[in-house]
Amino acid sequence: MPASMQGELQPTIFRFKLGGFEVATILDSKGIREGLSPLYGANASADQVQALARANNIDPNRLEHPNIPTLLNTGKELILFDTGNGFLPRDYEQLKTRMPMGNLAARLALLGHKPEDIDVVVLTHGHPDHIGGLVDGGRPVYPNARYVFGAAEYDFWKKNEGVREARKFNRELFVKICEPLAERSTFIKPGDTVASGVTAVDAFGHAPGLLAFHIESDGKRLMVTADTFTHYVMAVQRPDWYFEMDDDKDKAVATRQRMLDLLASERIFVASFHMPFPAIGWIDKSAAGYRWVPHSYQMNL
Ligand SMILES: [Zn+2]
Repeated sequence: MPASMQGELQPTIFRFKLGGFEVATILDSKGIREGLSPLYGANASADQVQALARANNIDPNRLEHPNIPTLLNTGKELILFDTGNGFLPRDYEQLKTRMPMGNLAARLALLGHKPEDIDVVVLTHGHPDHIGGLVDGGRPVYPNARYVFGAAEYDFWKKNEGVREARKFNRELFVKICEPLAERSTFIKPGDTVASGVTAVDAFGHAPGLLAFHIESDGKRLMVTADTFTHYVMAVQRPDWYFEMDDDKDKAVATRQRMLDLLASERIFVASFHMPFPAIGWIDKSAAGYRWVPHSYQMNL
């Protein structure tokens, strides 16, 4: 008798202890994109990009692009970093084929939470896959939350100066989604804290005011790097290669190099929005350069 195929079955949530805190990563959505080059490595050759993909045993022409927000439970507050795609593909014709629907709010239930339980929503930056899940039909998805934005990022979108052509629609979205939330928002800069043990870190480049977040509890450390790295091979092994979606490409390169050096030399664990699920790992530095190493059992001891 033939065995029937059951289809993909893969995890969507992961939770671990970080000192006195708990951290969860949640797969909001994932899409497949065509063309690794020139999406990555516009300042290299397509051959070089494809060779690096082959050397890492991944498809040289297509990539999987997951969106993985992080949830932090400090014991006092539930703090959500970024909100995924939300209903953007339902609400905007031009996004229908470009992005999958978000599942973050629904998947919180798998962790025992309701959207109403979220106390703080931190937006690392203003790109659609990070702000898209904030509202549903204009209503806040996390009705009891306060919001935290990077001040430089918020001001950039609000001022509407120097927004590149490819981000004009992004700017429209940002204004529509985020401005109504301003009354319940605070605006922070690198070095500021969101809660005790949670500090904003300058990661400007991919977005004009991108913030990473350093989380520390009982000596355990984790960096929520957001979109400092958008691919576990391309952005880590070749931080100098341009990424098409980086708003300031040279600043993004400098930020990746600075962050890689910090993460590798201090051996800080990483939660990174676009890494393969569960998007937890660390950065190894050897003579060959930097490399993303997925976690094994470090979080379980
Ligand atoms: Zn992103």
